[in-house]
Amino acid sequence: SKSTTLVVGGAGYIGSHTVRLLASQDRDVLVLDNLVYGHRDALVDDSVRFIEGSLSDRPLLDKIFSENDIDVVIHFAAFINVGESVKDPLKYYQNNTADPVILLEAMRDHGVKGFVLSSTAAVYGEPVEVPIVESHPLQPVNPYGWSKLMLEQILADCDTAWGLKSACLRYFNASGSWGDGLIGEAHEPETHLIPNVLLAIQGKIEKMTVFGTDYDTPDGTCIRDYIHVMDLADAHAKALDHLKGGGESIRCNLGTGLGVSVREILDAAREVTGKEVPVEYGDRRAGDPARLVADPSLAKEVLDWEASHTDAKDMVESAWQWMTGPRLGQFEK
Ligand code: UDP
Repeated sequence: SKSTTLVVGGAGYIGSHTVRLLASQDRDVLVLDNLVYGHRDALVDDSVRFIEGSLSDRPLLDKIFSENDIDVVIHFAAFINVGESVKDPLKYYQNNTADPVILLEAMRDHGVKGFVLSSTAAVYGEPVEVPIVESHPLQPVNPYGWSKLMLEQILADCDTAWGLKSACLRYFNASGSWGDGLIGEAHEPETHLIPNVLLAIQGKIEKMTVFGTDYDTPDGTCIRDYIHVMDLADAHAKALDHLKGGGESIRCNLGTGLGVSVREILDAAREVTGKEVPVEYGDRRAGDPARLVADPSLAKEVLDWEASHTDAKDMVESAWQWMTGPRLGQFEK
Protein backbone atom coordinates (compact mmCIF):
# COMPACT_ATOMS: atom_id res chain seq x y z
CA SER A 1 0.00 0.00 0.00
CA LYS A 2 1.14 3.56 -0.55
CA SER A 3 3.07 5.45 2.10
CA THR A 4 1.56 8.36 3.96
CA THR A 5 2.86 11.92 3.94
CA LEU A 6 2.52 13.68 7.30
CA VAL A 7 1.93 17.40 6.83
CA VAL A 8 2.45 19.46 9.97
CA GLY A 9 0.91 22.90 9.72
CA GLY A 10 -1.23 21.68 6.83
CA ALA A 11 -4.16 23.91 7.79
CA GLY A 12 -2.31 27.16 7.11
CA TYR A 13 -2.01 29.16 3.91
CA ILE A 14 0.68 27.35 1.91
CA GLY A 15 0.07 24.07 3.73
CA SER A 16 -3.61 23.88 2.81
CA HIS A 17 -2.87 24.53 -0.86
CA THR A 18 -0.18 21.85 -0.88
CA VAL A 19 -2.40 19.35 0.96
CA ARG A 20 -5.21 19.93 -1.51
CA LEU A 21 -2.85 19.47 -4.46
CA LEU A 22 -1.41 16.25 -2.98
CA ALA A 23 -4.93 14.91 -2.34
CA SER A 24 -5.89 15.72 -5.95
CA GLN A 25 -2.91 13.58 -7.01
CA ASP A 26 -4.39 10.69 -5.05
CA ARG A 27 -1.68 10.69 -2.40
CA ASP A 28 -2.34 9.64 1.17
CA VAL A 29 -2.07 12.70 3.41
CA LEU A 30 -2.34 13.06 7.19
CA VAL A 31 -2.42 16.61 8.58
CA LEU A 32 -1.27 17.52 12.09
CA ASP A 33 -2.07 21.12 13.02
CA ASN A 34 -2.64 22.81 16.38
CA LEU A 35 -5.01 25.36 14.76
CA VAL A 36 -3.32 28.25 16.56
CA TYR A 37 -3.13 30.07 13.22
CA GLY A 38 -4.45 27.35 10.91
CA HIS A 39 -8.08 26.82 9.90
CA ARG A 40 -9.90 23.50 10.06
CA ASP A 41 -12.07 24.65 7.13
CA ALA A 42 -8.96 25.06 4.96
CA LEU A 43 -8.87 21.26 4.64
CA VAL A 44 -11.53 20.79 1.99
CA ASP A 45 -10.97 17.16 0.94
CA ASP A 46 -12.66 14.35 2.86
CA SER A 47 -9.81 12.02 1.88
CA VAL A 48 -7.39 14.06 4.00
CA ARG A 49 -7.18 12.86 7.58
CA PHE A 50 -6.77 15.51 10.27
CA ILE A 51 -5.38 15.38 13.79
CA GLU A 52 -5.53 18.48 15.99
CA GLY A 53 -2.36 18.57 18.02
CA SER A 54 1.17 19.75 18.45
CA LEU A 55 4.33 18.65 16.66
CA SER A 56 6.09 18.79 20.02
CA ASP A 57 3.70 16.28 21.64
CA ARG A 58 5.99 13.26 21.73
CA PRO A 59 3.40 10.66 22.84
CA LEU A 60 1.09 11.84 20.04
CA LEU A 61 3.94 11.62 17.51
CA ASP A 62 4.79 8.09 18.69
CA LYS A 63 1.17 7.10 18.13
CA ILE A 64 1.05 8.72 14.67
CA PHE A 65 4.33 7.15 13.51
CA SER A 66 3.39 3.74 14.95
CA GLU A 67 -0.04 3.62 13.38
CA ASN A 68 0.89 4.94 9.91
CA ASP A 69 3.45 4.07 7.26
CA ILE A 70 4.93 7.56 7.00
CA ASP A 71 8.03 8.10 4.86
CA VAL A 72 8.17 11.90 4.53
CA VAL A 73 7.11 14.80 6.77
CA ILE A 74 6.35 18.20 5.28
CA HIS A 75 6.72 21.00 7.81
CA PHE A 76 4.71 24.23 7.42
CA ALA A 77 4.04 24.87 11.10
CA ALA A 78 6.09 28.03 11.59
CA PHE A 79 5.32 31.52 12.83
CA ILE A 80 5.96 34.07 10.09
CA ASN A 81 5.62 37.59 11.44
CA VAL A 82 9.05 39.21 11.11
CA GLY A 83 8.23 42.25 13.27
CA GLU A 84 6.87 40.06 16.04
CA SER A 85 10.01 37.91 15.90
CA VAL A 86 12.11 40.99 16.71
CA LYS A 87 9.93 41.83 19.73
CA ASP A 88 9.51 38.26 20.97
CA PRO A 89 12.43 36.19 19.64
CA LEU A 90 11.93 33.29 22.06
CA LYS A 91 8.42 32.68 20.69
CA TYR A 92 10.06 32.15 17.29
CA TYR A 93 13.01 30.07 18.47
CA GLN A 94 10.66 27.87 20.53
CA ASN A 95 8.08 27.26 17.81
CA ASN A 96 10.20 27.38 14.65
CA THR A 97 13.43 25.79 15.90
CA ALA A 98 13.09 23.98 19.25
CA ASP A 99 9.69 22.30 18.73
CA PRO A 100 10.73 20.73 15.40
CA VAL A 101 13.66 19.08 17.25
CA ILE A 102 11.10 16.98 19.11
CA LEU A 103 9.49 16.03 15.81
CA LEU A 104 12.92 15.09 14.44
CA GLU A 105 13.70 12.95 17.49
CA ALA A 106 10.48 11.04 16.93
CA MET A 107 11.27 10.69 13.21
CA ARG A 108 14.76 9.37 13.98
CA ASP A 109 13.40 6.87 16.51
CA HIS A 110 10.74 5.64 14.07
CA GLY A 111 13.08 5.53 11.06
CA VAL A 112 11.35 8.31 9.08
CA LYS A 113 14.02 9.80 6.87
CA GLY A 114 12.45 12.46 4.66
CA PHE A 115 11.73 16.09 5.59
CA VAL A 116 10.49 18.99 3.48
CA LEU A 117 10.94 22.39 5.12
CA SER A 118 9.22 25.68 4.35
CA SER A 119 12.27 27.86 4.41
CA THR A 120 12.52 31.45 3.35
CA ALA A 121 14.47 34.11 1.49
CA ALA A 122 14.92 35.67 4.95
CA VAL A 123 17.86 33.26 5.49
CA TYR A 124 19.91 35.51 3.18
CA GLY A 125 19.33 38.78 5.05
CA GLU A 126 20.19 42.02 3.26
CA PRO A 127 21.24 40.83 -0.21
CA VAL A 128 24.77 41.57 -1.39
CA GLU A 129 23.88 40.46 -4.91
CA VAL A 130 20.56 40.14 -6.78
CA PRO A 131 19.19 37.84 -8.12
CA ILE A 132 19.99 35.71 -5.10
CA VAL A 133 21.67 32.36 -5.63
CA GLU A 134 21.77 29.66 -2.94
CA SER A 135 25.50 30.24 -2.39
CA HIS A 136 24.73 33.82 -1.28
CA PRO A 137 25.93 34.51 2.31
CA LEU A 138 23.48 33.35 4.97
CA GLN A 139 23.14 36.32 7.29
CA PRO A 140 19.54 36.77 8.48
CA VAL A 141 18.63 40.19 9.85
CA ASN A 142 15.84 39.08 12.20
CA PRO A 143 15.01 36.18 14.55
CA TYR A 144 12.45 34.81 12.07
CA GLY A 145 15.18 34.28 9.46
CA TRP A 146 17.56 32.84 12.05
CA SER A 147 14.90 30.44 13.38
CA LYS A 148 14.57 28.96 9.88
CA LEU A 149 18.29 28.95 9.10
CA MET A 150 19.00 27.12 12.38
CA LEU A 151 16.46 24.47 11.46
CA GLU A 152 18.09 24.12 8.02
CA GLN A 153 21.41 23.49 9.82
CA ILE A 154 19.80 20.96 12.18
CA LEU A 155 18.43 19.08 9.16
CA ALA A 156 21.89 19.02 7.53
CA ASP A 157 23.43 17.67 10.74
CA CYS A 158 20.74 14.97 10.98
CA ASP A 159 21.64 13.89 7.44
CA THR A 160 25.27 13.43 8.53
CA ALA A 161 24.27 11.65 11.74
CA TRP A 162 21.43 9.36 10.69
CA GLY A 163 20.76 9.85 7.00
CA LEU A 164 17.80 12.22 7.15
CA LYS A 165 17.21 13.56 3.65
CA SER A 166 15.72 17.04 3.54
CA ALA A 167 14.48 19.55 0.99
CA CYS A 168 14.71 23.12 2.28
CA LEU A 169 12.54 25.27 0.05
CA ARG A 170 13.36 28.95 0.38
CA TYR A 171 10.21 30.78 -0.62
CA PHE A 172 10.21 34.32 -1.82
CA ASN A 173 6.82 36.17 -1.61
CA ALA A 174 3.98 33.64 -1.57
CA SER A 175 0.73 34.99 -3.02
CA GLY A 176 -2.48 34.04 -4.79
CA SER A 177 -4.90 31.21 -4.04
CA TRP A 178 -6.33 27.94 -5.34
CA GLY A 179 -8.76 29.98 -7.43
CA ASP A 180 -12.21 28.61 -6.54
CA GLY A 181 -12.58 30.77 -3.45
CA LEU A 182 -12.61 27.85 -1.00
CA ILE A 183 -9.07 28.35 0.30
CA GLY A 184 -6.69 31.28 0.35
CA GLU A 185 -4.59 33.53 2.51
CA ALA A 186 -6.22 34.48 5.84
CA HIS A 187 -3.63 35.75 8.31
CA GLU A 188 -4.56 37.48 11.54
CA PRO A 189 -3.16 40.09 11.60
CA GLU A 190 -2.54 40.50 7.87
CA THR A 191 0.83 42.09 7.14
CA HIS A 192 1.38 41.07 3.51
CA LEU A 193 1.18 43.50 0.62
CA ILE A 194 -1.29 41.93 -1.82
CA PRO A 195 -4.02 41.03 0.72
CA ASN A 196 -3.73 44.46 2.33
CA VAL A 197 -4.12 46.20 -1.04
CA LEU A 198 -7.25 44.15 -1.74
CA LEU A 199 -8.66 44.64 1.78
CA ALA A 200 -8.29 48.40 1.26
CA ILE A 201 -10.11 48.18 -2.09
CA GLN A 202 -12.92 46.31 -0.36
CA GLY A 203 -13.09 48.93 2.39
CA LYS A 204 -12.30 46.29 5.02
CA ILE A 205 -9.34 48.41 6.11
CA GLU A 206 -9.38 52.17 5.74
CA LYS A 207 -6.32 52.31 3.51
CA MET A 208 -3.07 50.58 2.86
CA THR A 209 0.29 52.18 3.47
CA VAL A 210 3.18 51.97 1.02
CA PHE A 211 6.25 51.49 3.17
CA GLY A 212 8.82 53.79 1.60
CA THR A 213 9.06 55.58 -1.75
CA ASP A 214 12.73 56.57 -1.59
CA TYR A 215 14.39 53.21 -2.22
CA ASP A 216 17.12 52.91 -4.82
CA THR A 217 14.78 51.25 -7.34
CA PRO A 218 13.30 52.60 -10.59
CA ASP A 219 10.04 53.81 -8.97
CA GLY A 220 11.37 54.21 -5.41
CA THR A 221 9.35 51.34 -3.91
CA CYS A 222 10.60 47.92 -2.83
CA ILE A 223 10.99 45.12 -5.33
CA ARG A 224 9.97 41.54 -4.48
CA ASP A 225 9.64 38.21 -6.24
CA TYR A 226 5.95 37.20 -5.95
CA ILE A 227 5.50 33.47 -6.34
CA HIS A 228 2.08 31.88 -6.85
CA VAL A 229 1.00 29.57 -4.03
CA MET A 230 0.02 26.88 -6.58
CA ASP A 231 3.56 26.94 -7.92
CA LEU A 232 4.80 26.53 -4.34
CA ALA A 233 2.43 23.59 -3.85
CA ASP A 234 3.71 22.02 -7.07
CA ALA A 235 7.31 22.41 -5.83
CA HIS A 236 6.39 20.54 -2.63
CA ALA A 237 4.92 17.67 -4.65
CA LYS A 238 8.15 17.52 -6.64
CA ALA A 239 10.31 17.69 -3.50
CA LEU A 240 8.24 14.84 -2.07
CA ASP A 241 8.90 12.72 -5.15
CA HIS A 242 12.59 13.64 -5.02
CA LEU A 243 12.86 12.33 -1.44
CA LYS A 244 10.64 9.29 -2.04
CA GLY A 245 12.88 8.44 -4.99
CA GLY A 246 15.95 8.34 -2.75
CA GLY A 247 17.26 11.80 -3.68
CA GLU A 248 19.95 13.64 -1.75
CA SER A 249 19.30 16.57 0.56
CA ILE A 250 18.71 19.82 -1.32
CA ARG A 251 18.12 23.46 -0.51
CA CYS A 252 16.79 25.75 -3.19
CA ASN A 253 15.03 29.02 -3.89
CA LEU A 254 11.42 29.09 -5.03
CA GLY A 255 10.70 32.25 -6.96
CA THR A 256 9.94 33.47 -10.45
CA GLY A 257 13.24 35.29 -10.91
CA LEU A 258 11.28 38.45 -11.74
CA GLY A 259 11.18 41.58 -9.60
CA VAL A 260 7.92 43.49 -9.08
CA SER A 261 7.66 46.82 -7.23
CA VAL A 262 5.00 47.83 -4.72
CA ARG A 263 3.69 50.40 -7.22
CA GLU A 264 3.40 47.69 -9.87
CA ILE A 265 1.29 45.63 -7.45
CA LEU A 266 -0.98 48.65 -6.92
CA ASP A 267 -1.33 49.02 -10.71
CA ALA A 268 -2.13 45.32 -11.07
CA ALA A 269 -4.78 45.57 -8.33
CA ARG A 270 -6.44 48.51 -10.13
CA GLU A 271 -6.46 46.56 -13.37
CA VAL A 272 -7.80 43.34 -11.85
CA THR A 273 -10.53 44.93 -9.72
CA GLY A 274 -11.31 48.03 -11.80
CA LYS A 275 -11.22 49.98 -8.54
CA GLU A 276 -8.99 52.62 -7.01
CA VAL A 277 -6.75 51.63 -4.11
CA PRO A 278 -7.11 53.81 -0.99
CA VAL A 279 -3.42 54.34 -0.37
CA GLU A 280 -1.09 56.50 1.70
CA TYR A 281 2.64 56.85 1.24
CA GLY A 282 4.54 56.31 4.46
CA ASP A 283 7.99 55.68 5.86
CA ARG A 284 10.11 52.63 5.25
CA ARG A 285 9.36 49.58 7.37
CA ALA A 286 12.35 48.49 9.49
CA GLY A 287 14.31 45.60 8.02
CA ASP A 288 12.92 45.72 4.46
CA PRO A 289 15.66 45.27 1.83
CA ALA A 290 15.15 47.32 -1.37
CA ARG A 291 15.22 44.30 -3.64
CA LEU A 292 14.67 40.57 -3.08
CA VAL A 293 14.60 38.47 -6.23
CA ALA A 294 15.39 34.77 -6.56
CA ASP A 295 17.62 33.08 -9.02
CA PRO A 296 15.39 29.98 -9.36
CA SER A 297 17.69 27.97 -11.64
CA LEU A 298 18.78 25.44 -9.01
CA ALA A 299 15.15 24.36 -8.40
CA LYS A 300 14.84 23.77 -12.13
CA GLU A 301 17.96 21.64 -12.05
CA VAL A 302 17.27 19.52 -8.97
CA LEU A 303 13.46 19.36 -8.98
CA ASP A 304 12.60 20.11 -12.60
CA TRP A 305 10.43 22.85 -11.17
CA GLU A 306 9.81 26.34 -12.43
CA ALA A 307 7.11 28.91 -11.84
CA SER A 308 4.20 28.67 -14.27
CA HIS A 309 2.73 32.02 -13.16
CA THR A 310 5.13 34.85 -13.84
CA ASP A 311 2.81 37.85 -14.23
CA ALA A 312 2.06 39.48 -10.87
CA LYS A 313 -1.43 40.20 -12.21
CA ASP A 314 -2.11 36.44 -11.99
CA MET A 315 -1.23 36.47 -8.29
CA VAL A 316 -3.40 39.52 -7.60
CA GLU A 317 -6.29 38.08 -9.62
CA SER A 318 -6.24 34.78 -7.78
CA ALA A 319 -5.98 36.52 -4.38
CA TRP A 320 -9.03 38.57 -5.47
CA GLN A 321 -10.93 35.37 -6.37
CA TRP A 322 -10.44 34.18 -2.80
CA MET A 323 -11.53 37.51 -1.29
CA THR A 324 -14.63 37.76 -3.47
CA GLY A 325 -15.46 34.03 -3.57
CA PRO A 326 -17.95 31.98 -1.53
CA ARG A 327 -16.03 32.47 1.73
CA LEU A 328 -15.28 36.16 1.12
CA GLY A 329 -11.67 35.58 2.09
CA GLN A 330 -12.40 34.24 5.57
CA PHE A 331 -12.70 30.91 7.37
CA GLU A 332 -15.30 30.33 10.05
CA LYS A 333 -13.08 28.32 12.34
N1 UDP B 1 4.42 46.53 1.92
C1 UDP B 1 3.80 47.77 1.90
N2 UDP B 1 2.62 47.91 2.59
C2 UDP B 1 2.03 46.88 3.28
C3 UDP B 1 2.67 45.62 3.28
C4 UDP B 1 3.87 45.49 2.59
O1 UDP B 1 4.28 48.71 1.28
O2 UDP B 1 0.97 47.08 3.89
C5 UDP B 1 5.67 46.34 1.17
C6 UDP B 1 6.84 45.90 2.03
O3 UDP B 1 7.56 47.00 2.52
C7 UDP B 1 7.65 45.08 1.05
C8 UDP B 1 6.60 44.49 0.11
O4 UDP B 1 5.45 45.30 0.24
O5 UDP B 1 8.49 45.92 0.30
C9 UDP B 1 6.23 43.05 0.43
O6 UDP B 1 5.96 42.95 1.80
P1 UDP B 1 5.30 41.68 2.45
O7 UDP B 1 5.07 41.99 3.91
O8 UDP B 1 4.13 41.26 1.66
O9 UDP B 1 6.40 40.54 2.30
P2 UDP B 1 7.95 40.51 2.72
O10 UDP B 1 8.72 40.92 1.50
O11 UDP B 1 8.13 41.43 3.88
O12 UDP B 1 8.18 39.08 3.06
